Amino acid sequence: MCAARIWIKNPLAVFLPEQLDGRGGLVIEDSRISEILPLGASPSQPCDNVVDARDHVVLPGLINAHHHFYQTLTRAWLPVVNQPLFPWLKTLYPVWARLTPEALHLASQVAMAELLQSGCTTVSDHHYLFPQGMEQSLDVQVEVVQQLGMRALLTRGSMNLGEEQGGLPPQHTIQDADTILQDSLRLIQRYHQRHDGAQIQIGLAPCSPFSVTTDLMREIARQAQQHDVRLHTHLGETLDEEAFCQQTFGMRTVDYLEHVGWLSDRTWLAHGIHFNDDEIKRLGAAGTGICHCPVSNMRLASGICPTVELEAAGAPVGLGVDGSASNDASNLMYEARQALYLQRLRYGAQQITPQRVLRWATAGSARLLGRRDIGELAVGKQADLALFKLDELRFSGSHDPLSALILCGAERADKVMVGGEWRVSDGEIIGLDSETLMVKHRAAARALIAGM
Ligand SMILES: [Zn+2]
Repeated sequence: MCAARIWIKNPLAVFLPEQLDGRGGLVIEDSRISEILPLGASPSQPCDNVVDARDHVVLPGLINAHHHFYQTLTRAWLPVVNQPLFPWLKTLYPVWARLTPEALHLASQVAMAELLQSGCTTVSDHHYLFPQGMEQSLDVQVEVVQQLGMRALLTRGSMNLGEEQGGLPPQHTIQDADTILQDSLRLIQRYHQRHDGAQIQIGLAPCSPFSVTTDLMREIARQAQQHDVRLHTHLGETLDEEAFCQQTFGMRTVDYLEHVGWLSDRTWLAHGIHFNDDEIKRLGAAGTGICHCPVSNMRLASGICPTVELEAAGAPVGLGVDGSASNDASNLMYEARQALYLQRLRYGAQQITPQRVLRWATAGSARLLGRRDIGELAVGKQADLALFKLDELRFSGSHDPLSALILCGAERADKVMVGGEWRVSDGEIIGLDSETLMVKHRAAARALIAGM
């Protein structure tokens, strides 16, 4: 049987390395990109389908490297609107502990749908809440990923250091180490795909140094190595956390990371703000990745990630929206724009370009997730694409299309393709009734807060 061929013809602009001319467009064959055409060129073989892209800016599908989907149920909740991390967490834990599988299903649908509409094709979620009745949390999320046709690296989070052991989370939200390790193994064996173009992968992700024991951190590193899966956690987010590590373990965060066998290129860390020069060097030498989450860092007033020094040291840098209780949007284009502005405050205008933040949101995040088959437009890579139109008032009068996406604030893709399949058309997710979803999700959010 002939492969299906699609020509994304003559786009307004394409996000490619500077020396490459893609003005003739891209050819998609089945799930992959098979040709990148310079101006005036035509596909080498006839195509079944031609998409006139003269009004579209084409990006590789964006990749979100850090999120907590369940938090879409607690967006803009007044008691924590003005709180920094630790009190914010302490107030929210008891609410989150009431999560149900149905509520998580709705929350994951909302978060992923919102990301997909913003041009995101691959997501990573960090789910660490497994109170009684929530043992199947990742199974619930796998269902939603399949339903929306996105790609996901779902990380099996964990907490086993409760208040009674000197940790931060309440006792009824934690699990014992054996349960965590057994479930991690079950999920890897059941869902983790290793082939090129994988749709679902599993990673292991203890929540943070202040909610997990040293032994469990070590055991999980061993398990990840044994089964060759990614490791993820929060690190260097706030000064409170640094003080906690000093007090509890007698060392700084990166020393602790090394102490538990995590300082490696298998690991990526959310936030990565409070590192000194020596720590940045060590993270870079190890190839440990950092997921920059600018909006969350601004909302909780946590600090500014030293992205330029980290990249110069050799650490991959990607982008994440973080959970919706601290962002509160799941829009990766919006996040890229915020990254540009926040990082310019630290490094000036010339170093932080629209291209650089778009690279973080694509190839950078792909590296964090350990993937070589996505994150850029190149022959042989997966056909994950986000096509934006510049036809709203906010773009009127703009000149350079790629800069306009970031500077004028593009928030919604017109079309999105994942592995050669269209998932968004005319800005709407194909096959999803978002009005009905919102009615159910709002009811679940109200019930969670009310404690029903
Ligand atoms: Zn987070």
